[in-house]
Amino acid sequence: MKRSYLIKPVLDDVYPVIDYGKGVYLFDMDGKKYLDAASGAVTANIGHGEPEIIEAMNQQARRVSFVYRSQFTSEAAESLAKKIADMTPGDLNWSFFVNSGSEATETAMKIAIQYWQEKGIQTKTKVLSRWVSYHGITLGALSMSGHTGRRARFVPLLEDFPVINPPYCYRCPYQLEAPSCQYACARELETAIQRIGADKIAAFIAEPVIGAAGGAIAPPEDYFKVIKQICDTHEILFIADEVMTGSGRTGEMLACTHWEITPDIVTLGKGMGAGYAPIAAAVASEKVMEPILAGTKQVMSGHTLSANPQSCAIALAVLEYIEKNKIMSQVESKGVYFKQQLEKMQSQFEFIGDIRGKGLMLGIEFVADRGTKKPYPRQALITQKMVALAKEKGLIVYPAGSGIDGVNGDSIMIAPPLTITEKEIDELIALLNETFTAFAQDFSCMAGG
Ligand code: PMP
Repeated sequence: MKRSYLIKPVLDDVYPVIDYGKGVYLFDMDGKKYLDAASGAVTANIGHGEPEIIEAMNQQARRVSFVYRSQFTSEAAESLAKKIADMTPGDLNWSFFVNSGSEATETAMKIAIQYWQEKGIQTKTKVLSRWVSYHGITLGALSMSGHTGRRARFVPLLEDFPVINPPYCYRCPYQLEAPSCQYACARELETAIQRIGADKIAAFIAEPVIGAAGGAIAPPEDYFKVIKQICDTHEILFIADEVMTGSGRTGEMLACTHWEITPDIVTLGKGMGAGYAPIAAAVASEKVMEPILAGTKQVMSGHTLSANPQSCAIALAVLEYIEKNKIMSQVESKGVYFKQQLEKMQSQFEFIGDIRGKGLMLGIEFVADRGTKKPYPRQALITQKMVALAKEKGLIVYPAGSGIDGVNGDSIMIAPPLTITEKEIDELIALLNETFTAFAQDFSCMAGG
């Protein structure tokens, strides 16, 4: 094998070389076919090689690919911002475009801090968050991330922003059930605010459905109403990190809509460009922008490639494609069908502990003992093994979990392109079944223990 000059996730692993993608499928240079049940990293929301997006990409490239945001605006950026304002609830009308989810959450954090500064309050600079969460890899975003594995090496550089438990009902720390628990985990926010002081807190950030850190953990019904009410009472902005859940992944433009709350700031990414371009956004409400418009008149953030016309034209074409083909309205029923198929598998495979999620963002948690919910030992690397077994069979699934080492179990996410057909869902389920059968054979010695 020729040496590689590319820094890959695991340097001594061998990665298949991709040739092309079509719809929900990917093909490597050896001609092997993969069903992309992860949309990459919950990103390729409308599948691969969609001609309409390629056409929009070409058209914009012929016109102009790049202009710098402090010199020019573009039709593409203006139209995209308008489209997002139209498609999001409430008055989330102001979009700041960036290039990755991490930049979006960093920007949201800075807008929240700036909001209070413009109102003459300099002390509100913390952005509280939850454990078992992921908001990005840059230092500000990582400070907000309750992901011990990803924080570990950088702890001295990070703020202690994760302060409360997640709504992880499968492993409730109180051993209670919703709604009779009265959302004890949400009420921890009240206690944390009292301890830290509302005068020091600019915002609270949360993923509506916990993705990478937890494996599609959806909250119980009134959880976010309680959170939002606590934020409002203490004059703390609420930021919904919809980098993974937004852009239709759960059947709505914003997953927050399912729980009838409107954030003050929202972040989008991943599915926003659907993998055709790196683009993400921090979207702020009128309330948040008002003091900034009346004050500095500038959001104190920005990147060279922010709002570049090429990425904006692609993201606009993606949203138009989703709208025109009524893709979001089909997500819920596809998700329900999926869950039914997964539940059938649960009766066949003892190691399937929990099946969860919302829309086409589904999670499966694996346990050594279903009765006691005992997780596999961390060093058994069950998630990695499951992902590798699936890949061998031509199925790409997303590894999740490890947000709190030793507390939550191993899990994978199933998040195929939203355009997946029922026939393709059946094929996906069959491949998953093969994967689980192989796992049961290889790891039968661990079952029950
Ligand atoms: N927020 C959430 C909810 C995410 O899922 C991710 C990526 N997994 C990020 C932020 C960071 O996005 P990126 O990897 O594009 O920087």
